[in-house]
Amino acid sequence: MGTTHDFTLRFSRRYSMGHRLISDAAPNCRVPHGHDEVVTVELVSEGNSKLDPRTNMLVEFDQAKRRWFDWIDDAVDHSFHLNEEDPLVGFFSEHEPHLMARLLLTPGDPTTEIRAACFKSKLGCFLQHDNPGLRCSSLTIQETPTNAVICEAVDPAQMMPTGDHWWSRADLSINDLPQN
Ligand SMILES: [Zn+2]
Repeated sequence: MGTTHDFTLRFSRRYSMGHRLISDAAPNCRVPHGHDEVVTVELVSEGNSKLDPRTNMLVEFDQAKRRWFDWIDDAVDHSFHLNEEDPLVGFFSEHEPHLMARLLLTPGDPTTEIRAACFKSKLGCFLQHDNPGLRCSSLTIQETPTNAVICEAVDPAQMMPTGDHWWSRADLSINDLPQN
């Protein structure tokens, strides 16, 4: 039986992105193209805490979402999602190094599934840093009006390589390349 929570906070943010997938699983996706996606997250209180009697809130909404929205707006919006092995990474490095910070890199193809896991892990780091009483119970990436992926993994970082990676840091990074 899962833990129940009296309240869930849910908020959504929209961003534009481009990507391409290089495995042969989705041949149409080899050509770089883009989507307008909406990411929706649900937060619950770690200990199912009561409402703050002074404010009748679980936590002030803006405080809970500020760093998450900053990251979506400043780093994820108009980023280009690539497999870290994609030769296009080398192209940018050689010809347009000033754009390297706009590449969102994933271990293997940047499918919606792996991105949902990376995003959920990233949000978990932000919450640990700013709102340790809150936990993300669910993260949904709506890739198109009809396709969505929902990640409810309790420890999504477990799916990814261990070590210091952008999805395990509470900063605004979207890759592990040296930034200058
Ligand atoms: Zn696509």
